[in-house]
Amino acid sequence: MNARPTSDRVALVTGATRGIGHEVARQLTGRGTIVIVTGRKEAAARSAAARLGERAIPMALDVTDTGSIASVARAIRERFGVLDVLVNNAAVLQDEGTSILETSPEVFDATMRANARGPLLLTQAVADLLRKSSAPRVVNVSSGAGQISSMTSYAPAYSISKAALNAVTVMLAAALPNAKVNCVDPGWVRTDMGGHSAPRSVEEGAETIVWLATLPPSGPTGGFFHDRKRIPW
Ligand code: NDP
Repeated sequence: MNARPTSDRVALVTGATRGIGHEVARQLTGRGTIVIVTGRKEAAARSAAARLGERAIPMALDVTDTGSIASVARAIRERFGVLDVLVNNAAVLQDEGTSILETSPEVFDATMRANARGPLLLTQAVADLLRKSSAPRVVNVSSGAGQISSMTSYAPAYSISKAALNAVTVMLAAALPNAKVNCVDPGWVRTDMGGHSAPRSVEEGAETIVWLATLPPSGPTGGFFHDRKRIPW
């Protein structure tokens, strides 16, 4: 059992201005959780939060910027003193259709910075707040593209960044033994990133993320999931 009721829980969702992250924020606020809705631009975060009602709190957060990460961690510390759920969802996809032999240093760095370093540094910055929660949950939104066991030539920098995020997940799970830290492949989802042809709705893409964000005490940690089932690294 949680020491605090579900309705008092505080969640931070990165990249919640649109796509899967916005839907995750919508589902969590629907369960009564207070959700800090973030995106790089304050105005976009504000308008996304306004669509979700009074339990959505907008904050600007660029996960590639250490100053921005520190200032959001400080704001949560001052306002709530605790963080129950962190969903590291924000990511970029910049090298679809590029060969591993041609991925540029700029794209490689920008992709690793947003998709792997961002979730690591943000989790470090809020680790003290997660430790104050009676039931901390961290969900890293990865991708089937990051599965080394079935890796293809699809978007090399993106795929490598998601494999790195999976490694970050395993290490954070060990470092935060009282938390449940997992990563998830949401499937191919209709968003700006996934495009119009994707078979899944944002509701379907968000489902396992929200399940991992609300795991009971008996739930798993340090795993990689798709449709609530563990999948190979
Ligand atoms: P979108 O491109 O639709 O949305 C990306 C979100 O991330 C936006 O809210 C954007 O906000 C935010 N964002 C981008 N860069 C940064 C940054 N540097 N700092 C903070 N926020 C940032 O993506 P999806 O919703 O499709 O994807 C969500 C997650 O799901 C990603 O991790 C993606 O890799 C993963 N995924 C998606 C799949 C799909 O088919 N769609 C398939 C597999 C995995 P803003 O522009 O306002 O800053």
